[in-house]
Amino acid sequence: MKHILMAISGPAGVGKGTIVKTIIQRREDVVESVSCTTRAPRIGEVDGTHYFFLSKEEFLKRIEENDFLEYDEHFGNYYGTPRSFVEKTLESKSIILEIDVVGALNVKKVFPELVLVMIAPPSVEELKRRLIGRGSEDEESLKIRLARLQYELDQKDKYDYYIVNDDLETAIAEVESIFDGTK
Ligand code: ADP
Ligand code: 5GP
Repeated sequence: MKHILMAISGPAGVGKGTIVKTIIQRREDVVESVSCTTRAPRIGEVDGTHYFFLSKEEFLKRIEENDFLEYDEHFGNYYGTPRSFVEKTLESKSIILEIDVVGALNVKKVFPELVLVMIAPPSVEELKRRLIGRGSEDEESLKIRLARLQYELDQKDKYDYYIVNDDLETAIAEVESIFDGTK
């Protein structure tokens, strides 16, 4: 089967991480790209698994070396997709990039075969419930993330697939069918 590079985008708390984690556990032919970031690790996050945690100096050096397919700044920190990891991995597996809309559209410019998937919440109220339930945001961070919600969802026309994460298993099956070429 053809290996594809897929970008999964959508507002914080919508369930991207949950969907991606499940698919990667179930399938040997799909891996997640590990991004680089300058933000500090959260409790439980492992360097090289969740992100490659870099100092700002290291990150800027790698920008100069052209080692990112794209990079951007969020909430005061840099995030980027390492080019070498993607190119090497695609030789044997499909890759999911869990990436915001700006980043995904930037990758699309240099990698036109990229498949764009938007995950949307069933409602704003449900999204708030999930973000608060996850317990990872303080009030300020919650406000910033919710303010970005409409902007992200407004980009849906630029995306190949729009999947509402209401029932988790249904959403997972929809994403999997894209890898299987049946959607
Ligand atoms: P994201 O990666 O998009 O920020 P997460 O995967 O961390 O979002 O999900 C946010 C919270 O919502 C988590 O606590 C997760 O367990 C929960 N969640 C994800 N999908 C669903 C769903 N379909 N129904 C109910 N809760 C969900
Ligand atoms: P978090 O700090 O919650 O892990 O991520 C913050 C934001 O950075 C999220 O919107 C996430 O999608 C985005 N992000 C994570 N990795 C990358 C990346 O490699 N490139 C870009 N542009 N954004 C990223």
